[in-house]
Amino acid sequence: MIPHNRPTLNIEEEEAAIRVLRSGWLTQGKEVEAFENEFCKFIGLPGGHAVAISSGTASLFLSLWVLNAKNKKISFPGYVCSALHHSIAMIDGNENLIDTAPNSPNLDLNLLKKSNSDIAILPHMYGIPMDISDFENEIIIEDCCQALGAKVNNKHVGLHGTVGIYSFYVTKLITSGGHGGMFVSSDKSLIDRVKDYREFDDRQDYKKRFNFQMTDIQAAIGRLPTFLQRREKIFQRYKKEGLELLDVDPELKHISPVRYRAILKTTKPQKIINSLQSIGVKSIIPTDEYIILENQSLFPNSFQFTRETVSLPIYPSLTNSDIDIILSGVITK
Ligand SMILES: *Cc1c(COP(=O)(O)O)cnc(C)c1O
Repeated sequence: MIPHNRPTLNIEEEEAAIRVLRSGWLTQGKEVEAFENEFCKFIGLPGGHAVAISSGTASLFLSLWVLNAKNKKISFPGYVCSALHHSIAMIDGNENLIDTAPNSPNLDLNLLKKSNSDIAILPHMYGIPMDISDFENEIIIEDCCQALGAKVNNKHVGLHGTVGIYSFYVTKLITSGGHGGMFVSSDKSLIDRVKDYREFDDRQDYKKRFNFQMTDIQAAIGRLPTFLQRREKIFQRYKKEGLELLDVDPELKHISPVRYRAILKTTKPQKIINSLQSIGVKSIIPTDEYIILENQSLFPNSFQFTRETVSLPIYPSLTNSDIDIILSGVITK
């Protein structure tokens, strides 16, 4: 069976985990700090501007907390994983769902402009980043869980909004051994407050805090992506063979995606999923109808996408013959 997803874990990650296990220091410590600083370097922030968190969802919650989101109007797309909904519920914010743009998996920024919201959570879906330069004066949480390494105007995603968050869950572009997340901001005062919230134990005041820490084992396993090129190669091979994949408009040269997902556009998704299944390949509907939590007529673009997309395997450990097999199951005459 060729799975839909497989984490990229090699001998380096194994050795890192063993090194930390043998050191006897397993919880948040030097490894977490080193990972935070590597992360800053990768995305182009000065050291000390990233906070490692236990998950992407927890990072979203902390973003909302640090931006005082309680009772505020928080806009976000329904076409996304349930983490956004859950983190807004945790902070007691007011949800305002917005449809995706026509022919795009990302939220419709024209609708956002008219929405009069206090805060927006903007996920860059499937590795396709959106240009939010028109929203400089708005409070934006950039959700980069699916787009680590993508850039707009040569600047990494996560640096265009007020804050940025990332996930290192096992199916994401990199994993810190199963779960993990990161919070970044160029505003040091927000960083300091989030760090204070995470340092929950043994404090001499009674401020609200919580244990959202990452462990040193997780941080040592987490390594910045060095394999985005292999994903790009697979993506280009699929395109060369004629697959119609979701991609950035080639006119928009300032937008550089990462190939987190290969999303095939098709009017017969179930037929393709079955055809692949019959030759031992797992493909999925990337965001399914039940996720959207809203009335179809209010969200026509999102619902159309749930019915016209299939996500194909695209992880770095796929071999060329795996790719041939996948293609043979999709291209059925
Ligand atoms: C995965 C994901 C999250 C949640 O991250 P976890 O680490 O799984 O909690 C949030 N937003 C988006 C867009 C994601 O893809």
